[in-house]
Amino acid sequence: MKKLHIAGFLIVFALFVLYPLQAHAEKNVVIDPGHGGSSSGTTGYSGASTGYYEKDFNLEMAEGLREILEKNGYNVHMTRTDDSKLAGSLHADLQARLDLAHEAIEGKNDQSIYISVHSNSLPSNPYMRGYETYYFDIDEGINETYPPDPVQIEYSPESKRLAHTMHQNILAGTPLWEGRGIIPSDLYVTRNAHMPAVLLEFGYMSNPTEEALIKTSSFQEKAAASVLKGVDEFFSVFEVYEYDGNRVKVFENKEQAIDYAKSMESAYVFDKFNQEKIYDGAVKRYGVYHSSDRSVNETFFTKDEAIAYAEDFENVRVVDNELGRVVWSDYLEKDYEVEHSSQGVIYEAYDFESAFNYAKKWKNTSVIDRNKDQVVWSNYLDEDFAVSHTEKGLMKTFYREKEAIAYAENWESTKVTHTESNKVVWSNDTPEYNYSFKTTTLAGEDRIQTAIEVSKQLYPNGLDGEKTVVLATAFEFADALSAGPLAAQLDNAPILLNRKDELSADVLKELSRLNTEKVVILGGENALSAQVENDLKQHFVVERLAGKDRIASNLEINKGLSNVEGVFVASSRSFPDALEASSIAAAHGWAIVLTDKDEISQESLNYLNGREVAILGGTAVVSEEVEETLIESNGGDQVTRLSGANRYETVAAALDYFEDDMRSSTVLAATGQNYPDALTASAISARTNAPLILVGDELNPTIEKQLSEYGSENVVDELQVIGAVIDKNSRNEMVNHLN
Ligand SMILES: [Zn+2]
Repeated sequence: MKKLHIAGFLIVFALFVLYPLQAHAEKNVVIDPGHGGSSSGTTGYSGASTGYYEKDFNLEMAEGLREILEKNGYNVHMTRTDDSKLAGSLHADLQARLDLAHEAIEGKNDQSIYISVHSNSLPSNPYMRGYETYYFDIDEGINETYPPDPVQIEYSPESKRLAHTMHQNILAGTPLWEGRGIIPSDLYVTRNAHMPAVLLEFGYMSNPTEEALIKTSSFQEKAAASVLKGVDEFFSVFEVYEYDGNRVKVFENKEQAIDYAKSMESAYVFDKFNQEKIYDGAVKRYGVYHSSDRSVNETFFTKDEAIAYAEDFENVRVVDNELGRVVWSDYLEKDYEVEHSSQGVIYEAYDFESAFNYAKKWKNTSVIDRNKDQVVWSNYLDEDFAVSHTEKGLMKTFYREKEAIAYAENWESTKVTHTESNKVVWSNDTPEYNYSFKTTTLAGEDRIQTAIEVSKQLYPNGLDGEKTVVLATAFEFADALSAGPLAAQLDNAPILLNRKDELSADVLKELSRLNTEKVVILGGENALSAQVENDLKQHFVVERLAGKDRIASNLEINKGLSNVEGVFVASSRSFPDALEASSIAAAHGWAIVLTDKDEISQESLNYLNGREVAILGGTAVVSEEVEETLIESNGGDQVTRLSGANRYETVAAALDYFEDDMRSSTVLAATGQNYPDALTASAISARTNAPLILVGDELNPTIEKQLSEYGSENVVDELQVIGAVIDKNSRNEMVNHLN
């Protein structure tokens, strides 16, 4: 959904082919039903009495052909779709057909073909019968009376190849006999088309048997299927191009094409059927990477070589570094599928972008997010199912009924309407429900007291699960920062804050009220002293997670996290970016790795390897060098940067990315000027999925916009402000946007 559209850049994984590929619609087929209007073509054996002329057969045949070609992914252009001529004179009419064709293919002449559909006649001999294929052949020389277009001269070898694939498949797939065979000729359309071109004569209408045969729908279906086969076969080749776009050679065999290209200075191989570059002599674009260490790190010229290499290892992926997509993996999940309305699943992909790029080349396709079992894009379904709330009105629209209902179930007083019929298909109406918005504040006299207030709200009756509490410094952000993800993993432990030198009596009191058994201290003795640790040991089991400095402490804490799905990389010097991450990371099982601006440690890199990485903030806080190092280590598909013009916009970018998962009737707000309030709030996010908004002196416009959107897509009925720093104006504005 939105997350996917705006942030396809984050989980950029890749596509995977299910079936031997059917065609992409980058390929053009121009179908030219011969004659039309006053030009009826041959009258045939019985046309004079039945009124069924060649022009009628040509159009029927062409329509069937169009349908089957489009179903199989070709772009089809028709020179006529009704019983009419394009111009008065014969030549003007034929030239008009070519003009139309040349315009329709939009310069993609190399990836287009022209098929003219006819039926033959020899009135002098009603016994003459059989199928014939016509094309222009430069090897037969140039007829001065009917000179060919120079462009067709270039395409002549390909026209010949097309004539052969047509001829064989039509003879094999229909009951027609062979007439006079494959015939090089100077027909107007075949000698002047700016692309490979053929003219097909489906039998002789002057022969009563064949005339009767080709009029049947069963014949026309077989003939169309045979033409499709011929077209598929024509496109099933591997073209070697020079970089200036000059096509050097065409191969039926992929390996031969690659070998040939390798023998050239600089060339690439184009898989014509799948319409993709499969080898490029300039770049080893396919990388093989291991999921969790750097033991495997190789690049290759071709996908096949990379996969063959990767198959000898476990937990590896092959990344197309040019497109930034995983193309093969033995451990990643293919979370997206492309579904065709009649053919079912035709493609599986690791990420939305790849699925989308594939799906949009077809008609009647949808992209489905398998995890959510939800249609996230479609070119034929409409978002016909609307979820609305009794008092808030329209919230969101969906492609499928079940998805709309699943969404509506999150709140009371919602209903699902099928917008086209205006029928309510599901309702969650509770008449006594009254929508009202409230603003609450959780704040103590200082940051330490505020943390205690948050803890009280989270666990009013003391801890119910694991009886562990995380204790962080109230004054040194870097040491405190990792608290969010850690607390989330410790059964949503509360986060309490303390000053460095002595244990606060109020903290001790809260620990007792919670029935705490174990306290995890974050950071070294510079953050929380040995004295604090000893005081705690009088009452609880104590564990300290610390390293020699802030970055090492952070790593130490991260090592204790299990099932980490992704990692935020944030500056160790600038807290606001990391702060927002703390809340999201806590709610999503992500970790936060701190780094210096210009260099990231090898130990951190090892920790990050194989995981999805989101850099927080611009290059002023985490440099391009660090980003490049991360890409080198993890592959381009695994690294992105979430940043905005300032700290609040970075927050917005991060929230936007995770929006679909942060769904709650409560929105949290804390100051972005310092860290403790937001840090303790991350414990609430972890437990309730409530998004946390950071607020400065005034509301940032990007955040305002985001609040409005969130407010319209969710029934938000509470703004909870953590800490006493946010002023009344900002609160009121937030409420206005959310309402
Ligand atoms: Zn004809």
